[in-house]
Amino acid sequence: MFDVVIIGAGMAGAVLAERFAAHGKKVLVIERRKHVAGNCYDEVDANGILIHKYGPHLFHTDDAQIWEYLSRFTQWHLYFHRVKAVIDGKPVPIPFNFNTLREVFPTSLAEKLEAALLKNFDYGKKVPILELKKSADADLQFLADFVYEKIFLHYSEKQWGLSPEKIDGAVTARVPIFVGRDDRYFSDRFQAMPARGYTRLVENMLDNKNIKLLLNTDFHEVMELRGDFIYLFRKRFKGRLIYPGQLDELFSKKFGTLPYRSIAMKFETVDAENFQAAPVVNYPNNYDFTRITEFKQIHPAQTPRTTILKEFPQEYGAGANEPYYPIFTEEARAAYEKYSAELAKFKNITAVGRLAEYRYYDIDDVVKRALEIFAVLN
Ligand code: UDP
Repeated sequence: MFDVVIIGAGMAGAVLAERFAAHGKKVLVIERRKHVAGNCYDEVDANGILIHKYGPHLFHTDDAQIWEYLSRFTQWHLYFHRVKAVIDGKPVPIPFNFNTLREVFPTSLAEKLEAALLKNFDYGKKVPILELKKSADADLQFLADFVYEKIFLHYSEKQWGLSPEKIDGAVTARVPIFVGRDDRYFSDRFQAMPARGYTRLVENMLDNKNIKLLLNTDFHEVMELRGDFIYLFRKRFKGRLIYPGQLDELFSKKFGTLPYRSIAMKFETVDAENFQAAPVVNYPNNYDFTRITEFKQIHPAQTPRTTILKEFPQEYGAGANEPYYPIFTEEARAAYEKYSAELAKFKNITAVGRLAEYRYYDIDDVVKRALEIFAVLN
């Protein structure tokens, strides 16, 4: 009856469902939650503000094809994301850039550090903190130690339960030191939010007569892997299975539990029109949450109150909370590789997405990956 079964209606699942359906395939999407859009899910809350239930999701891409593809399903609200981090009690712009230098240090020292950066790096370059730490220049050493201590060390300890050196350098390189004045969080060509939210965007993708969506359904209720075969509604399924979830769940945890990092999301209503100095303010050195998001600064709303979100990182325990991030240590990757090898035995199962591929994909990466996979499978 179905050509393709997709387990999960997040961004990866939605793109593949849309593509296969557009090419005349009958697609079944099975989603455990009561809603689509995965962790991009957004909804208007009691304050009349569009909030991201699973934490802030900012869209940005350098890839015109991804932008054009998604633009078929949404209009955009043009938006450059900006973040501040509280250093010694004061919110200053990050990625750390020339403006930050001026806000943090006395002018003479800021000028000296700016000159040292310009002497050692091209204007406009992004320098990962772990690279800056290796610098031989004494002024840059000073700057690297300062930024490491004030921005990265304690934030990463909260976020990952690990120091920056213990996680893959690519993780902290996402927020590099910027040699210049651009204080936007991303420098991509296309930066915007879906005008009516991600949920609406995904609903538009799935709105196709060839797609059947089963919400509130754990895939174990309707599917089973037995030997090398897939059974759907107790019958042998010979089509393609797309799996964007955790691989340990697909294989009944036969090699143990895969580690992920979770976050407790705590929303609060503040009885004031505005709350903070930027859409997202990070607290590397204070409190036990990492950051606060104020959603009306991302999706403008004229409301007397404002909704904020505090993120409290925590260990992931299956069932108790949500898996948000793969963990980027060698041990965790080795655990993943066992499942990845098991998956390779099934020619008609394709793993895709942040959880299933154990990668730090952003939204545009997921869309790109799903489109690439479609191009190969179709
Ligand atoms: N990071 C940090 N301090 C900050 C911001 C980021 O140490 O103020 C590090 C931290 O390890 C974090 C990583 O950089 O996990 C990536 O940050 P990003 O904002 O991209 O994280 P996401 O929004 O994906 O949670």
